[in-house]
Amino acid sequence: MYDDRHGSGKALPGPVPDAGILIHVMAVRGQTADDRNIDHTTEDPMDKTMKAAVARAFGKPLAIEEVAVPRPGAGELLVKIEACGVCHTDLHAVEGDWPVKPNPPFIPGHEGVGHVVAVGAGVTHVKEGDRVGIPWLYSACGHCEHCLGGWETLCEQQQNAGYSVNGGFAEYALAAADYVGLLPANIGFVDIAPVLCAGVTVYKGLKMTDTRPGNWVVISGIGGLGHMAVQYARAMGLNVAAVDIDDAKLELARKLGAEVAVNARTTDPAAYLKREIGGAHGALITAVSPKAFEQALGMVRRGGTVALNGLPPGDFPLSIFDMVLNGVTVRGSIVGSRLDLQESLQFAAEGKVRATVATERLENINHVFDRMRSGQIEGRVVLDFA
Ligand code: NAD
Ligand code: ZN
Ligand code: ZN
Repeated sequence: MYDDRHGSGKALPGPVPDAGILIHVMAVRGQTADDRNIDHTTEDPMDKTMKAAVARAFGKPLAIEEVAVPRPGAGELLVKIEACGVCHTDLHAVEGDWPVKPNPPFIPGHEGVGHVVAVGAGVTHVKEGDRVGIPWLYSACGHCEHCLGGWETLCEQQQNAGYSVNGGFAEYALAAADYVGLLPANIGFVDIAPVLCAGVTVYKGLKMTDTRPGNWVVISGIGGLGHMAVQYARAMGLNVAAVDIDDAKLELARKLGAEVAVNARTTDPAAYLKREIGGAHGALITAVSPKAFEQALGMVRRGGTVALNGLPPGDFPLSIFDMVLNGVTVRGSIVGSRLDLQESLQFAAEGKVRATVATERLENINHVFDRMRSGQIEGRVVLDFA
């Protein structure tokens, strides 16, 4: 259960309860609040505080706190969060797993979806009441060679929701108006939230495997990302082989359309897939284990492409001889562009993919993380703020 030592049950302090967070919120925005930039709605949430899950130190439980509602500056939106998926990246962020770390205190979450409740100056294409999502790619510079070339996911000036700027584990979050996902009207917030990271990431990752309809693709790791990948792959006309170390995950993969499923704990997945399907044309690795990356290299046939989505800390060995002789391509793939995001949302709008979700309250986030650590989550847990 949620660890209450961090004050969720305490009486809440006054309107500006935590100067640290307030300063941080303003610092990450890079500007101070300016009332002239705001079109006020009938009620003004920005005069209030909000509940948020705050990472105060790496490796420690998140603290449920009341913090100031941030104010949108020029080009920004204030979003009332209705739901936010919990991605394994949020856990990596809170653990401080990666070489480039966030700066505590920060509010994780990059699958936040909700209604726009205030818009900053200069925002024209999004208005109050619109349904939007705040993805990992919170913003990019818009003018570097990567941004110009349609590769804004590689922009060196990018900001990341729930990492370099505060994210969706809160009742309100800021967004860069030009970078939000515009949500389909026919899907509820809880169901659409996982597309904001898991969906777009695997949709782009599958494109990066260079597979074509009728080809075989292996999805290694059938968690939040992988269970969406199985569905996108099917919708893209691919034959799917699923690999995980947990039979329950493989069962889900079969239910979602995988024709072949292998438990890498009990069977050598590379040998099995070579035998059963002659090796796949492509592989998408979402597993949170370096071992899975090593194994994936042997799952593809000659000329195959292995796209890497998973981000467990560490390295894996790569046989020069096998790569060269077999003509295998290995490449990383990080989330997706705004266009990838809109395309991936459209698959959901058309009913071609649907996240398997279980809802939780924000207060239970540390329990969700515990279950994620031990691999007990089926599909995605989504924090429901409704
Ligand atoms: P998750 O915890 O929901 O799922 C991980 C899955 O990996 C589980 O099903 C687990 O059983 C499986 N697994 C563990 N060891 C394995 C092994 N040896 N072989 C096969 N499967 C194994 O996590 P998630 O939210 O799906 O995220 C997965 C990873 O992707 C994380 O490292 C996350 O940070 C990363 N990620 C990357 C991007 C990107 O843009 N590249 C985007 C989002 C998440
Ligand atoms: Zn994510
Ligand atoms: Zn850029």
